[in-house]
Amino acid sequence: MNETEFELSLRPVKLNEYIGQEKIKKQVSLLIEASKRKNQVLDHVLISGPPGLGKTTLAQVIAAELGRNIHFTSGPLLEKKGDLAGILSSLEEGDILFIDEIHRLNPSVEETLYPAVEDFKLDIVIGKGTASRSVRIELPRFTLIGATTRAGMLTSPLLSRFGIILNMDFYDTDSLTEMVLRSARILQIQINREGAEEIAKRSRGTPRIANRLLKRVHDFAVVNGTGFIDRKTAHKALEFFEIDENGLDPIDRKYLDILINKFRGRPVGLSTLSSALSESKNTIEEIIEPFLLREGYIQKTPRGRIPTDRAKRLLKRFEK
Ligand code: ADP
Repeated sequence: MNETEFELSLRPVKLNEYIGQEKIKKQVSLLIEASKRKNQVLDHVLISGPPGLGKTTLAQVIAAELGRNIHFTSGPLLEKKGDLAGILSSLEEGDILFIDEIHRLNPSVEETLYPAVEDFKLDIVIGKGTASRSVRIELPRFTLIGATTRAGMLTSPLLSRFGIILNMDFYDTDSLTEMVLRSARILQIQINREGAEEIAKRSRGTPRIANRLLKRVHDFAVVNGTGFIDRKTAHKALEFFEIDENGLDPIDRKYLDILINKFRGRPVGLSTLSSALSESKNTIEEIIEPFLLREGYIQKTPRGRIPTDRAKRLLKRFEK
């Protein structure tokens, strides 16, 4: 099973299988009910939050609850206006169009999207040069669900087209424990609650990481024991894979080491960090930093990133 198949097999289908994010679930459930009672298509939805929190899954759940088809694409995949026009003209009444990484839409594609989402109309140009003319096509009413890891990078005209904005936050340990238990059931992995909790605590508040760690801990348990995961096995396995009790991995610690020991607490810019870590700026801003910021290991200042006392205490423990 490759990584994509693995994720698909673990995806909740209905809202009651979607764990945690209680406030968002309540809102979604009400909006779905309202759309059904009014017999109107659901308003356009923007889901924002760090990678792996369940944005795509939530979009799929919304489509399933509405009993509608969902079409998947992403900002970087829609290179030309024609790519978007092709998808839009294949939609049926009430369908959901999911655009992942919607902050990365090319500006000309984004402009094509405006009349489509606002008036359900698509302007296309037929022919070339002086013989070309623009025709307006009526589209069926549909719902756009956009997902973004960087809501701040959306242009304001695009942002204003969404009637519903859902901001997702990292999950607490209880929700992640439930998720690990659920995934273990599906994958037929033997685990007890304490084992699942140990994995949950070190998953950086992120379902995708929880599922990945479950797989790695299971590998460890199969080789070093019976395959059963209890707290002790999970603890040993995570130590083996160098994930500490706060969920920080070797790259996080290298990041903090650069701030603390290499730059001695002076503010460090993104480009400098990117070359010191050999990671892309995107990876740093979208994957590494959101968790470090939220857990209070670093602060972003106008002049760059600085480590907090918490980060300094943590590294001292590791250096011992
Ligand atoms: P995103 O689109 O935000 O990057 P995904 O929707 O792809 O994240 O979710 C990553 C994985 O985490 C999915 O395979 C899914 O199994 C799991 N997952 C995410 N959110 C939940 C949830 N609330 N309950 C159960 N599993 C979840």
